[in-house]
Amino acid sequence: MSDIEIAQANERTEMLPITKVAETIGLTPDDLELYGKAKAKLSYPTLKRLAEKKPGKLVLVTSINPTPAGEGKSTVTIGLGDALNLRHQNAVIALREPSLGPVMGMKGGATGGGYSQVVPMEDINLHFTGDMHALTTAVDTLAALIDNHLQQGNALNIDPRRITWNRVLDINDRSLRHTVIGVGGATSGVPRENSFDITVASELMAVLCLSKNMHELKARISNIVIGFTYDRKPVTVADLEVTGAIAMLLKDALKPNLVQTLAHTPTLIHGGPFANIAHGCNSVLATQTALALGNIALTEAGFGADLGAEKFMDIKTPVLGKTPDAVVIVATVRALKYNGGQPLKELTTENLDALKNGFKNLKKHIENMQRYGRPVLVAINQFVSDTQAELDALIKACADLGVQAFASDVWGQGGKGALPLADALVAALDQPGEFKPLYDVNKPVKDKILTIVQKIYGGADVVYDHKAELALKTIAQNGWDHLPICMAKTQYSLSDDPKALGAPTGFTMHVRDIQPKLGAGFLVVLTGSVLTMPGLPKRPAAMNMDVSDDGVISGLF
Ligand code: ADP
Repeated sequence: MSDIEIAQANERTEMLPITKVAETIGLTPDDLELYGKAKAKLSYPTLKRLAEKKPGKLVLVTSINPTPAGEGKSTVTIGLGDALNLRHQNAVIALREPSLGPVMGMKGGATGGGYSQVVPMEDINLHFTGDMHALTTAVDTLAALIDNHLQQGNALNIDPRRITWNRVLDINDRSLRHTVIGVGGATSGVPRENSFDITVASELMAVLCLSKNMHELKARISNIVIGFTYDRKPVTVADLEVTGAIAMLLKDALKPNLVQTLAHTPTLIHGGPFANIAHGCNSVLATQTALALGNIALTEAGFGADLGAEKFMDIKTPVLGKTPDAVVIVATVRALKYNGGQPLKELTTENLDALKNGFKNLKKHIENMQRYGRPVLVAINQFVSDTQAELDALIKACADLGVQAFASDVWGQGGKGALPLADALVAALDQPGEFKPLYDVNKPVKDKILTIVQKIYGGADVVYDHKAELALKTIAQNGWDHLPICMAKTQYSLSDDPKALGAPTGFTMHVRDIQPKLGAGFLVVLTGSVLTMPGLPKRPAAMNMDVSDDGVISGLF
C-alpha cells in the first residue's frame, strides 16, 4: 500500500478525535481550538501555562547527507515516538509543517511514510490549519506596504534598489526568481526589481519559529530590516509603523498544531523552514510545548546534520533554553552507498564496497554531533532492498567507533520496528555530559563561518565574493556581528558542491552574499549556487495527483 492508502485506512477506522489524544497528555477541550475533528491549535493561555512547566528530555533526530528522495528522518522520528510509547515513556513529537514546494515537486510530504505517519495526512500536507497561507499573506502584505510607501512619496527615503524584503509563494516557481514590478505608469507603483522566495525561506517564517509568544513575535517583527535608505541607513518594519498589522495576520499561525501518529502519539506540527536555505527546525513554541507535555520530546531538524542539526544546536537551542539530551542520526544503506559512489538508479543492488566507502559520510556526522557533548545513536532506516550483510556491516562499522546502531523497520512495522533503538535511547538520556556550543557568537563573523566550515563541513578555507565583503562592512557598521550564522548550502554534500559526496576535505567554500536577518536574529550566509526559490523537476509529483468526485485524494505519495 502507498503512504496515502495506509493513512486513509487509518483515518477511516482508527484515528481518534483529537480531544481524546489531547486527554492522554493532560489537556482538556478548553486547551484546544479545534480545526475539524482531528486537528487543533493550542490556545494562548494554555501555551503560557505550559511554558512554566518543567521540561522533559529532548531528543534531536537528524541524518546523514540525503539522496534526493530524503532518508526517512520524519518517518524514523514518528516511528521512534510510537516505539517509546509502546514502552510507556510518554513521548510527544514536534515536527515541521510541510511546504507545498516539495509536495508538488519531488521529495514528498513531511508526514512520514509506511506505518510511521502522522494523520490526517492529506490535510497536513496541503492546507492544514492555514499557517503557510497566513505567513505568505503576511510577507506579501509587508511587501505591498513597502511599495505603497514608495508610491506615496517615500518619506523614509528608501532606496528602491536596496529593498531586501522579497515577496513569497509556497510553490516552487523558478520564473518568479527575478521580476520587475511597478511598470504601467504613475498610478501603478514605482518600478523596481523584485524577487520571490519560497515561503519557508522567508525571514518571517524564522521569526515565527523563534518567537515564544506574541510579545516576542512583535519585537522580532519590528526589528526586521526591509532595506536601506539612499544614504545606506537600515529601514525596519518599526520605521514603517506596521508591526501590529503584520503580527495580527500571524495571530493564529503562532499557535502550535496538535495531531496524532497512526498509533495515536501526540504530535505538534508547527513552522517549517527548509534547512538548506533557512534554519530548518520546527517552532521553538512547539518544541517547548512538547517538552512540557511529554517525558520525552522528539524533534527533527531538516536535511543532514551539517545543516539542520548544526543550526538546531547553534541557533535554536539558545532561544529554546534547553539543549538536546541525546541525538539520533538516521542513516540508510542506500544513501551511504550513494555517498560511496553507487549511481542513484542502482541503489537497490547489494554493494558492500560502496557502503564501506560511503560510511565516511556517517562517520563525519557522528563526530560532528559528538562534538556537542551529548550521546549519539544511529538509526538505520531499513529499506526492503537492504541485505542482511549490508545491515550487519553498517552496525559493525558504527560499533567500531563505539556507537550503537540499530536496524529499524518503522516504515514496515511502525513503533514495533524500533523497540531496541527506543530502549537504548532511554538509557542514553541519563548519561552525564555537558552540552558544548560550536562557536562563541561574540567572535567576528568570518571566524564563526570558518569554524563551521572547518569543524562541521571538513573544509579548509572560505573565499568571499565582492558582494559578501560589502555585506560584511554593512554588518560591522551596524553592529550586527554578534549574531549566529545560518548557512545556506546544498544538502547533498558536506561542501558547497552538491556533487562532492562522501566526506570531502580540504575544499574552499565560496560565500556569495551575507544577508542580515535582524528579526530572526541571524546572518544568512549564501554559499555555492543554493537558491531561495527552488524550481520544479521535469516530471513533478503533481502529475500523479488526483481527487475523486467524492473528494478522496490519490497520488499524494
Ligand atoms: P526525510 O524526513 O528524511 O526527508 P521522510 O521521512 O519524509 O524523509 O521520507 C521520505 C520518503 O521516503 C517518504 O515518502 C517515505 O514514505 C519514504 N520512506 C521513508 N523510509 C522508508 C523506508 N524505510 N522504506 C521505504 N520508503 C521509505
